[in-house]
Amino acid sequence: MPAETHKIQANNANLERERLISLINSMADGVIAIDENAKIVLYNGAALNILDVNSSMTGKYLRNVLSVIDKNNQPVDLQSRILRIKTSEASREWRLKYPDESTVNLYTSIAPVKLGFGKLGTKGYVLLLRDITHEKSLEEERDEFISVISHELRTPIAIAEGNISNARLVASKTDAPERINKALAQAHDQINFLSSMINDLATLSRAERGKLTVDIEMINVHNFLLDLAQNYAAETASKGLSIQTDIDPTLEALQSSPLYLHEILQNFITNAIKYTEKGSITIGAKPNMDGVEFFVIDTGIGIGKSDQERIFDKFFRSEDYRTRQNNGTGLGLYITAKLAMLLHAEISMESELNKGSTFTIVVPNLQ
Ligand code: ADP
Repeated sequence: MPAETHKIQANNANLERERLISLINSMADGVIAIDENAKIVLYNGAALNILDVNSSMTGKYLRNVLSVIDKNNQPVDLQSRILRIKTSEASREWRLKYPDESTVNLYTSIAPVKLGFGKLGTKGYVLLLRDITHEKSLEEERDEFISVISHELRTPIAIAEGNISNARLVASKTDAPERINKALAQAHDQINFLSSMINDLATLSRAERGKLTVDIEMINVHNFLLDLAQNYAAETASKGLSIQTDIDPTLEALQSSPLYLHEILQNFITNAIKYTEKGSITIGAKPNMDGVEFFVIDTGIGIGKSDQERIFDKFFRSEDYRTRQNNGTGLGLYITAKLAMLLHAEISMESELNKGSTFTIVVPNLQ
């Protein structure tokens, strides 16, 4: 190849490289590329800013310029972590720590890449860094707000609920017109819904602020489930449904949090009742290698395949008109999944549209 052609190609490559560098330099997020040994090969101005470094980082090991801590202020070995990843991953849970001990909340996105082209391409990683301290503090404020509001709303709602309940009782004992009974029943339903929504919001904001503590006790699974079934006997009967238990007699006591287990099963059961028009609800448990497997089976409207992946998402509710006939916030299963994590429990679900659903949770013995 003539020397002239070589020169043109080299110039083109240089031009291309300059373009790329000015492109990444114009990005607001910090970008750092490292090679397979975690040595820095490329970075932009925003990376220098966020890391508060004012000398060249090329050739330095990532861990020498970036120190990250987790929620509990424990150091995170980000460098080893990056070298192990196979597909891209992002996190909003870490903080960047500066030498003077001050910190900022960090969004990190890490992706394995090929540095260079063709045969010259060696393995490497690209790391994107963003300071999300402001966003995080807004999130915290929002959670704090929800927590205060839900706490403040509890008392008036409880008083209204009590009064409506009394009025219903009086109305049903006198010959009050049917219209009054109906209006009171509707008001009562709505106030109960409000109250469960407030409870959900309160639990949710506590869970998101990491404020939920787990108190472990010995649970007599048999009695626990019989009590639960008993609690819902009237509600199922008034909807023309039957409720039954299927409890393995060989079950032994379980060490876990009765409070959260109760809330989880309660969510499964109230959903089963809400989304079942005819048939039965079965609640039960059997021993499992890790602890106890609890299940709630209904013969209800079921959940379509595309919805199944999303029912544990925050605020998700199916578009099915039969779902929309019932009050709901789409928070129940999201909270349930959060509580299950606290119990190190595993939730699964099987469902067929128009046939029914089974929600299962395997709860291990905790120490
Ligand atoms: P909510 O019941 O307040 O809408 P959840 O988070 O408890 O919220 O449930 C999310 C969605 O999952 C429901 O809106 C419904 O579409 C679906 N779902 C949950 N449980 C059942 C069930 N047993 N049968 C049919 N659909 C269900």
